[in-house]
Amino acid sequence: MKHKIKGLSGSRPTVSFRCDHCHGGLMASLREAGQSTDCPTCGATIAVPGERELAEWTRHRADEERAADQKKAELGQTSELWCSNLEALAWYVREDVRKRSDAADIQDGRIQKNDQRAANRSWSIDMAGTLIVAAIASLMAFIALPLLIQIERNTRATPAAPQEPP
Ligand SMILES: [Zn+2]
Repeated sequence: MKHKIKGLSGSRPTVSFRCDHCHGGLMASLREAGQSTDCPTCGATIAVPGERELAEWTRHRADEERAADQKKAELGQTSELWCSNLEALAWYVREDVRKRSDAADIQDGRIQKNDQRAANRSWSIDMAGTLIVAAIASLMAFIALPLLIQIERNTRATPAAPQEPP
């Protein structure tokens, strides 16, 4: 009995054959090969041919599925690797940002401390200047002023020479 297989590379191969009794043309799924079917023309029960091809197709199909599964697994591993890499990158970025912000805080603290120190220093300078001015003023008041008064008194004490009429 001659039969023809079609679509062996696909997922739904078919087998075409002729009825043993009426020689009418029939077509069935290759998956039904080896099973018995009723001829739609004469009604006789006949076996669907193509068992050998079905076995080959099944083997080929299994190989393809295994390869596809392997590829999927590899892809999964790759995507997992990518995910873990991305996670690592995200962690690194977070850590970097945290460190940077910490550093900025520390720097801010230093700047604030420096500002405070500078303010303290300028206040001390102002205070020192004021004290020096006050000291000089006191010195003037206690020493220079009596001296000036004395000089003034002395000049007043010495009478001016009487002016001789010409
Ligand atoms: Zn038939």
